[in-house]
Amino acid sequence: METLAMDVELSDELRAMRDAVRKFVTKELEPWAREIDKSGEIPQGCIDVMQKNGYCGMRLPAEYGGGGLSLFQYCIALEEFSRLHRAFTIAANYSSGMTPMAITRHGTPEQKEKFLRGFAAGKLKSGFALTEPEGGSDAAGMRTHAEKRGDKWILNGRKHYISGGHVADVIMVMAVTDPVKRARGGITAFLVEKGMPGFEVTRVDTTIATDAIKLAELTFEDCELPESAVVGEVGAGFKVAMRSLNDGRLSVSCSCVGAAESLLEMATEHVKVRKTFGKLLAERQAIQWMLVESATDIAAGRALAYDVLRRLEAGKNIGSAGSMCKLFCSEMVGRVADRAVQIHGGMGVIRGFPVERFYRDVRHYRVGEGASEIQKIVIARDLLRGVDIKD
Ligand SMILES: Cc1cc2nc3c(=O)[nH]c(=O)nc-3n(C[C@H](O)[C@H](O)[C@H](O)COP(=O)(O)OP(=O)(O)OC[C@H]3O[C@@H](n4cnc5c(N)ncnc54)[C@H](O)[C@@H]3O)c2cc1C
Repeated sequence: METLAMDVELSDELRAMRDAVRKFVTKELEPWAREIDKSGEIPQGCIDVMQKNGYCGMRLPAEYGGGGLSLFQYCIALEEFSRLHRAFTIAANYSSGMTPMAITRHGTPEQKEKFLRGFAAGKLKSGFALTEPEGGSDAAGMRTHAEKRGDKWILNGRKHYISGGHVADVIMVMAVTDPVKRARGGITAFLVEKGMPGFEVTRVDTTIATDAIKLAELTFEDCELPESAVVGEVGAGFKVAMRSLNDGRLSVSCSCVGAAESLLEMATEHVKVRKTFGKLLAERQAIQWMLVESATDIAAGRALAYDVLRRLEAGKNIGSAGSMCKLFCSEMVGRVADRAVQIHGGMGVIRGFPVERFYRDVRHYRVGEGASEIQKIVIARDLLRGVDIKD
């Protein structure tokens, strides 16, 4: 939406980057969005186009073929991808999401050489496996465990709801290595590769959202891992995971802003052509107010997300602000989607219309990467520091 009221202060560099991504999305990705909806998959051809144009490994260091983007720049790219189709944000995360960034931050030179180049070349896809049946919101309650035998780690357990776990070439799996210490030094991050004996994708779930977004169940039965599979220090896995989730909250926030803006655009265009009782919907105050509420919601979400990203770039401690962003933006896009469906009437709920797909796709955001209630717990702890809050 190009209204002055919704505009936001951006440096010339960021504005130029945003415009370049927007042009790429419109010119190159639009045909792939149709293909993704038809096939229910993210085709390799789409990843190849992203790679050719510099959108694989966007955040990875240049020495490994990456684009070296900051989190702020990456979030702006995700916002643009999300305006067209949520699947492109998933495709971007395969090569610049939580696992590639954990390897960048904590990996050994050998891990970086082996995996980062593959992500940047669009040849490898990553997954991130924390959640499991007994450890969802309470991730530290996980049962998946790894035991050291000689110079090998033996991994056993089950993860579920893992985005793209069925197509990932390498997955960062969190496992208990010291049952007494657990989250306080007893969880380790391991890199598990597709095809390793003892590792199997045992279920693939489709969800309320577009079919291309699938969540996998992964089972590990005496899966033998070399010592070189450990990411960072043994026992530091929970910290690695939480650091990754911090970035994830801001990526999700900006993806929500992009989707919300598309929904508002669709609603605004619709009311300019749809007449009821002899008048355009645009002339009805009840309808105008829905548009106004959505525009104000989006402006607030974007201002919050960009402010937090700026503070992060300046090296400031943001406390629980990442959780505030994720909480506000994921709930905000739900409200905007609901109004857009309402404004479209019957058309808003018919399969095949973009507004209906967006409505379903954005529902994920309130659950994945820490549900709203968990973000509230994080913010409450920050607000009430000093009070001994028992879980
Ligand atoms: C689209 C999508 C993609 C995902 N991708 C991944 C992935 O790639 N990797 C991965 O590891 N996981 C992934 N997940 C899993 C996700 O992180 C979990 O679903 C989420 O953390 C919630 O865990 P749960 O499903 O076990 O719900 P539960 O933990 O059972 O929670 C159920 C409900 O109870 C609420 N709740 C829980 N505890 C409290 C409390 N103390 N107080 C108040 N309310 C509470 C929750 O907020 C939630 O609303 C994904 C999920 C989705 C939907």
